[in-house]
Amino acid sequence: MQRRQFLKAGGTLAATGSLAACAREGAAPADGERDSRRYQWNMVTTWPANFPALGTGASRLAQMITDASGGRLSVRVYGGGELVPPFETFDAVARGTAQMGHGAAYYWGGKSPACPFFAAVPFGLNTQEMNGWLYHGGGLELWRELYAGFGLVPFPAGNTGVQMAGWFNREIRTVADLRGLKMRIPGLGGEVMARLGATPVNLPGAELFTALQTGVIDATEWVGPYNDLAFGLHRAARHYYYPGWQEPCATLECIVNKAAFESLPGDLQAIVEACCRAINDDVLAEMTAQNGRALEQLRDQHQVDVRALPDTVLAALKEASDQVVAEVAARDAFAARVLASYRAFQDDAAAWHRSSELPYYLARG
Ligand code: CA
Repeated sequence: MQRRQFLKAGGTLAATGSLAACAREGAAPADGERDSRRYQWNMVTTWPANFPALGTGASRLAQMITDASGGRLSVRVYGGGELVPPFETFDAVARGTAQMGHGAAYYWGGKSPACPFFAAVPFGLNTQEMNGWLYHGGGLELWRELYAGFGLVPFPAGNTGVQMAGWFNREIRTVADLRGLKMRIPGLGGEVMARLGATPVNLPGAELFTALQTGVIDATEWVGPYNDLAFGLHRAARHYYYPGWQEPCATLECIVNKAAFESLPGDLQAIVEACCRAINDDVLAEMTAQNGRALEQLRDQHQVDVRALPDTVLAALKEASDQVVAEVAARDAFAARVLASYRAFQDDAAAWHRSSELPYYLARG
């Protein structure tokens, strides 16, 4: 009942544009006075509440903002479905039902074909490179320009690192084995799979296990060992493939209602920005710390068949990926601008990493 009333209030307030004012207590300070206005914000997310690294990352971000601001900006987190359904996060924040959201831009390809470029591109930038592009290569400016059209301000707010290719209920030996495969795979990766004869579907994380176990889907990618183990996906499919060609990184996003953000005093805006930057790094650190052990557990305790996708399959996926990405850019002017910037950055980063990361990994073994 309370929730319904809240939702109703959110809709009405958004319509009158007075949400920012309502979420605020206190008056603007006079010159030289301390700003003691207090803000109560809600954050809706695409993740199950407190799901490892994704949901908990959102919760840590909210706590960090609340603490860093001394409680002047207090953020309360709602898991996917608690206040709005997971995939309504973008709209809910845009219309002001919540002031803040946490998710990933590739869920919003229906809003703009350029959105997925800000989360993950098949065979694209890895995390290190993506952060380079976003913070120092013009990527974030493009992202902000795109989301401004929806009344949102985006912040990078977490990263998974290179993901796994996913769970399959059958072995993948050749490209032909992908044909007819019903797979949960969002974003551009899904379009690539369709190109090779599979049927991609997009489901929120919380629905994956049941969908895979009951045969609604034959395969799913999710994140990596840490998150996949938490969902128990090894109990629904036996074959676990790498590498995550479809998501060589996945940038998570914190989105903020633009009017609400602009209503904040400058120091609180700076706190939001700095805390997002901190969580962007922290989620990756948690993934890095947990994935190795989870993979070992899947392999040794649960006898999961962990193996690489065959080179021929990866080559076909790469060829289809290049086509899909080029076609997305060809049908949307903004996506074309984004891709031009992204590809120029990738060329430079790849050239550098051919002399740094790549030979180092190989030499280390
Ligand atoms: Ca994924």
